[in-house]
Amino acid sequence: MPDKNDKNGETENSALLMLGWTDLVGLVRVRGVPVSARDVTITRGLGWAAAGQAMTPFGGIAPNPWGATAEVQQIPVPETEVTIVDASQEPIRLILTRSETKEGSPWECCPRTFLADALEKLRTEYGLTLKATFEHEFSITHRDLIPTEATYTFAAYRQTAPIIHNIVAALQEAGLPPHAVEPEFGAAQLEISFSPADGLKSADETVLVREIIRDIAAQNGAAATYAPKPAPHAVGNGMHIHFSLWNAETDAPISYDSNGNYGLSEEAACFVAGVTRHAKALCAITAPSPLSYMRLQPHSWSCAYKSFGVQNRECAVRVCPPYAKDPEGYAKAFNFEYRIADGTCNPYLALGMIVNAGLEGLRSNAALPKAADKDPADMTDAERQACDIERLPSSLEDSLDVLLSDEVAASWMPAPLRDAFVAVKRTELQSVENLSDDELCAKYAAVY
Ligand code: GLU
Ligand code: MG
Repeated sequence: MPDKNDKNGETENSALLMLGWTDLVGLVRVRGVPVSARDVTITRGLGWAAAGQAMTPFGGIAPNPWGATAEVQQIPVPETEVTIVDASQEPIRLILTRSETKEGSPWECCPRTFLADALEKLRTEYGLTLKATFEHEFSITHRDLIPTEATYTFAAYRQTAPIIHNIVAALQEAGLPPHAVEPEFGAAQLEISFSPADGLKSADETVLVREIIRDIAAQNGAAATYAPKPAPHAVGNGMHIHFSLWNAETDAPISYDSNGNYGLSEEAACFVAGVTRHAKALCAITAPSPLSYMRLQPHSWSCAYKSFGVQNRECAVRVCPPYAKDPEGYAKAFNFEYRIADGTCNPYLALGMIVNAGLEGLRSNAALPKAADKDPADMTDAERQACDIERLPSSLEDSLDVLLSDEVAASWMPAPLRDAFVAVKRTELQSVENLSDDELCAKYAAVY
């Protein structure tokens, strides 16, 4: 047995740098290299089989064009490196990667590149940047934990200690301090939110945060799951995505205009109108599992309708007027929330599709629909029509068809990326088609 500490004081585990990438089913796959090879790996990356991008969550692999030979290169992104520390385990180093072709150009099936490209279009076409932040809802299970029915209480929160304390400590240690931590509405359900960051960084941070939460829970003998429904009748886990627009040159906030419709600037109105207009097609990417559609039901604050509203938690896209007394602070904090995403999605693909939808709204000068002032499920057909509200797809099968039949939305993804995504999702669906709802929830909770 080698000595636990090498001469640099590195422990055995921290002597490996794990390279991670988020695949089409939103899971982080990894490989490790010795820390001594860090610098050379960061420069050159590591080759990997492109077919790895066709893995389903449950071990299978979807039909794909790459076969046994095609390779791409995984290039680490230095600013994403974190050290994950927990009282009960050795530190682990994790760094995220992007994928390039062997010729050195970005690989069109790399989700991180898809988001980077969308943000670049927003910058070059409209001089705008986007800041975002993802809220993470998850459920904790532990053999000794019998969740109180009095959710949202201090007692509910304390039931999850010390797991939650160790999670927060590890997030802080990794340079990812939470904005807020709360016991949520479901049994042993928690939510952790973060401050906004530039689009690409917000997605990187989301990937890291999800892994840290899951990892620290596991190291503490518990399990944290983002499954959109941890059990068929449980409260759902969402991953709401907040976003706002900024001037790329001056970094001034441009989402708010006190004279604008519902307080939106002209540019923000077009952007948000584009996101709302294409919400049904976005579902395939942002709500990409069978459980996502158990979650997207009426009267559960998760949204069942393509809809726009101000402060309305039953709408797919919500204007979030902030609490700020000074006009400058108000404009900075004014933001929008995309609510039909969950933890089974790939954050790069989800935010990339939102940005593309917003861009489409800007290009077509899209008009905001009338804001829904109540739960769309409680409206009459005429009321829904007046707000341009439609039911979201009710299954992943339908969502995939809706994405493919929305020619505009389908064109935002490079064809090989879109086709691979659809093939992976259809293979995933086949692998779970005979499961009962209980079995389905258990299967996804074990992986997500
Ligand atoms: N848990 C709800 C969902 O499935 C959201 C509750 C909230 O508004 O935070 O999205
Ligand atoms: Mg919440």
